[in-house]
Amino acid sequence: MAVAANTYRNYIDGAWVDSESGEQFEDTNPATGDLIGSFPRSTTADTDRAVAAAHQAYASWRLYPAPKRAEILFKVAELLRDRKPELTRTMTQEMGKVLTEAGGDVQEGIDMTYYMAGEGRRMFGQTVPAEMPDKFAMSVRQPLGVVAVITPFNFPMAIPTWKLMPALVTGNTAVFKPSGDVPLLAEMLVQIFEEAGLPKGVVNIVHGGGATVGQRLLEHPDVKIVTFTGSKETGIHVARTGADTLKRIHLELGGKNAIIVMDDADLDNAADGILWSAFGTSGQRCTAASRVVVHERVYDGLAARLVERAEALRIGNGLDPEVDVGPLINQAALDKVDRYTGIARDEGAEILTGGEHYTNGEKGFFYRPTIYGRVERDMRVATEEIFGPATALIPCRDLDDAIAISNRVEYGLSSAIYTDDVNAAFRAIRDLDTGITYINAGTIGAEIQLPFGGTKYTGNGHREAGTAALDTYTEWKAVYVDYSGKLQRAQIDNQPS
Ligand code: NAD
Repeated sequence: MAVAANTYRNYIDGAWVDSESGEQFEDTNPATGDLIGSFPRSTTADTDRAVAAAHQAYASWRLYPAPKRAEILFKVAELLRDRKPELTRTMTQEMGKVLTEAGGDVQEGIDMTYYMAGEGRRMFGQTVPAEMPDKFAMSVRQPLGVVAVITPFNFPMAIPTWKLMPALVTGNTAVFKPSGDVPLLAEMLVQIFEEAGLPKGVVNIVHGGGATVGQRLLEHPDVKIVTFTGSKETGIHVARTGADTLKRIHLELGGKNAIIVMDDADLDNAADGILWSAFGTSGQRCTAASRVVVHERVYDGLAARLVERAEALRIGNGLDPEVDVGPLINQAALDKVDRYTGIARDEGAEILTGGEHYTNGEKGFFYRPTIYGRVERDMRVATEEIFGPATALIPCRDLDDAIAISNRVEYGLSSAIYTDDVNAAFRAIRDLDTGITYINAGTIGAEIQLPFGGTKYTGNGHREAGTAALDTYTEWKAVYVDYSGKLQRAQIDNQPS
C-alpha cells in the first residue's frame, strides 16, 4: 500500500500508521536543503505496539520452513534489483553520496539479500558421533525472537539489509529503527518487504529519535537481540542498557583505519586507493582511511601525488555524474570536520590541501577533501574518528613502526598495506589488529560473503555478513536422540569401571 506523497508513516503489524504523537520530523537533502519528506516522531507507545506485533508474528514465522522464508527474500532481492535506479537516485538525494556509490550501496543490499536467501536451504548445523550405541547427536540453529535493528545514516540500504536478511531467514522477527537522517530509504525497503508478501508483523518500522524509539527498544523485555551500527558512544550505551534484560547485543562501531605505504609500493596505485578510501562517501564510511602511514623514504612522492589528485576531485551535488565528492550529512558533521582542521593546526600538523568549507554557490554541507601532513602518531587527528573527508599522513621508519602506528588507536575495523614484499604482506596480515586487512588495496570495499566487523572499540566480537552473521541471530541447540529403548548414562555406562 502506498502512503501519501511526502508524508510517511510507521509500518506496524502489516499496516501503515501514524504515530500517536501526531508529530512529524523533516528529512532534507544535504546537498540542497530541499525537503524530502516528513516522518512520524514516534513514541514509546508506538514502539511497544511494534514490539508486540513482532512478538506475536514470531510465533508463526519461526515455524515457517526456512526455504519458504527464503522464497520471500528472493522476491525482495528481485524487487530491489528492479528498483535499483530509483533507490539509487533517492539515496543520493537523501544521504548525499554520489550516484555511483549510491548504486554500490543498493547493490550491496541486493547481494546480501540473495546471499541470505540462499541460506534458507543451508543454515548448516553439525552432526557428530554419539558416545553411546543407538544414539544420534546433532546441533541446529534456532531463532531468538524479536530483533531491534538500529542503523546509522551512512549506508541506508546496505546496513539495514546486512541486519534484516540474516535475522529474518533464521526465523526472527524485527522492529527497525532507521537513522532519522535517512528514513525514506528505510521506508522504501519496508514497502518492498510488504510487496514481496512478508506476513504482517514480521518486519515493522518505527521512525523517530534514538532517545525515544531506540531507547525503548533497548529496554523492552520482549526484544531479544539488538543489532546496532553507529558511534562508539551510543554503542556503549546500547550495551549497558541492554545488559539489564540480558539481551544479545551486536555492535558495529567506529573506525580510525590506516593504509600503510611501504617504500617498495607502487605509489600511483597506492594514491588511487588512498583517495578512494579517504574521500569516497565524503569520508563517512566506518572503513574510511583517515590515516596514511607512509615510509619516510616515499613520503614526499606520495604526498605530492595525493595533493594533486585531491585537488582534482569535483565537489557538488551527487546527482551530477561529473561530481566525485558529495556533501556531508548535516551541519553538525560539517562543523566537526572543520573543528578537527583547527585541532590539526593547533597541534602543529601541516594542512597540505583543503581544510575549509566548499561553497561555490552550493547550499549543501560541503567540505574540501583535506590532507593533514607530517602528523605525529599521537596527535588527535591521528587517533580520533573524524568521519569526514580528511586524512592524516603519518611518516614511519619501517614495517614494525608502521604496524605499531596502525595499531595505536582504540578502534580496529579495517587496515591496508601497499607493498611488493610478500613477507611484509603476511606479517601485516598477522599483526594488524583489525577485523579486515587489505593487501595492495585501500581500506574500503568489503564483499558480503566474508565476515565484516572489527576488534577493540569497533565492536563486541560479533560479525556481520557471510555465514558469520548467522551466529548473531541464532542460538545453537544440541539435540540427542536415544533410540536404544533403555537408559544410557553418558560418561558412565560406556566406560571401563
Ligand atoms: P549514531 O550513533 O549517532 O546513531 C546510530 C543510530 O543510533 C541512529 O539510528 C540513532 O537514532 C540511534 N540512537 C541514538 N541514540 C540512541 C539511544 N539512546 N538508544 C538507541 N538508539 C540510539 O551514529 P551515526 O552518526 O548515524 O553513524 C556514524 C557512526 O556509525 C560512526 O561512528 C561510524 O564509524 C559508525 N559506523 C560503523 C559501521 C561499522 O560497521 N562498524 C558502519 C557504519 C557506520
